[in-house]
Amino acid sequence: MKFYRNSAEARAELGMAPGVDVSAVEAEYPFLTNDYYLRLIDPAAGTADPIYRQSFPAPEELADRSSSFDPLAENEQMPTPRLIHRFRDRVVLLTTGKCAMRCRFCFRKRTWKQGADFPDLTASELKRATEYLTAHPEIREVLVSGGDPLMLGKSRLREILTALAAVPSIEILRVGSRIPVVAPELLDEEYAALLGSFPGLWFATHFNHPRELTPEARAACTRLIRAGVPVVNQTVLLKGVNDDAGVLEELFRTLVSWKVKPHYLFHVDPVRGVRHFATGIASGLEILRAFRPRLSSLATPTFAIDLPEGGGKVALQPEYGRDGRYLDLHERKLIAYGEFNSPID
Ligand SMILES: *Cc1c(COP(=O)(O)O)cnc(C)c1O
Repeated sequence: MKFYRNSAEARAELGMAPGVDVSAVEAEYPFLTNDYYLRLIDPAAGTADPIYRQSFPAPEELADRSSSFDPLAENEQMPTPRLIHRFRDRVVLLTTGKCAMRCRFCFRKRTWKQGADFPDLTASELKRATEYLTAHPEIREVLVSGGDPLMLGKSRLREILTALAAVPSIEILRVGSRIPVVAPELLDEEYAALLGSFPGLWFATHFNHPRELTPEARAACTRLIRAGVPVVNQTVLLKGVNDDAGVLEELFRTLVSWKVKPHYLFHVDPVRGVRHFATGIASGLEILRAFRPRLSSLATPTFAIDLPEGGGKVALQPEYGRDGRYLDLHERKLIAYGEFNSPID
């Protein structure tokens, strides 16, 4: 994999003319992409291209100086380094700061510049995390996150997963990775077999746009599924990238046909430097409303926001009910649900 760490150089590689100077943006939030993801950009579309917008710095990133770097208060909900415990039965483990490309809308943008301060999970941090898990048997699931845990490489990731799976109360490992989307060939048969060797392991990936649905990406998902790993997808609703019911319908339909379940559609988090990607919650609800009469429930993700102050995720739905009556599928009339709504004592 060839990495690009300078956006002017990457633009030149695509044959694009030099754009506005974003060197100040890059100094604040470093640029990183790779040859595979770069090639998904249509240079003729310029800065409006959905892949370009996800990966290239924009001057707007510096405009927002007031939002928090860590609105979800992740740093305050860490009982041991790298472990976020917000919900009773599940935790997040931050295993690395490395990624195969940097998403400009990243909700952990705060970790980008930490560089040496955000190295891979150490042996002693892993030990402390497993000790915490052992002391808290109510925790059943670990979200193995980062960065991108697949950037750790097979042997280190195997060590981490093995240590977590060895905690008796841990039943589920949920590995969150964008590798199938941004560097699918890295997820080879051997990687798929490694992940498939853990019985309760699920894989959560992150496709945002139909342009990312390449034969290579499909092959990576298929390797996982053949190895016995269920794959779900989380999409972030992004202004100017995918905030369109038609675009998302195509994305979700194709994912389901690949056996990848659209799990979540997230509104962008209120993180400093990503405000220009915010659509507003109403826009997500409108998209769900458009889906209701026309898109299979298998293809429809849960739309959710993650509350500031570590308040957690809230799933949102358009309002369909009023006084015991509910709007029909085509929104022509309200229909009473009837007396079955009043159970017999
Ligand atoms: C999102 C998240 C989870 C997982 O929540 P689900 O609704 O099960 O996907 C767990 N812990 C933290 C801190 C999270 O942000």
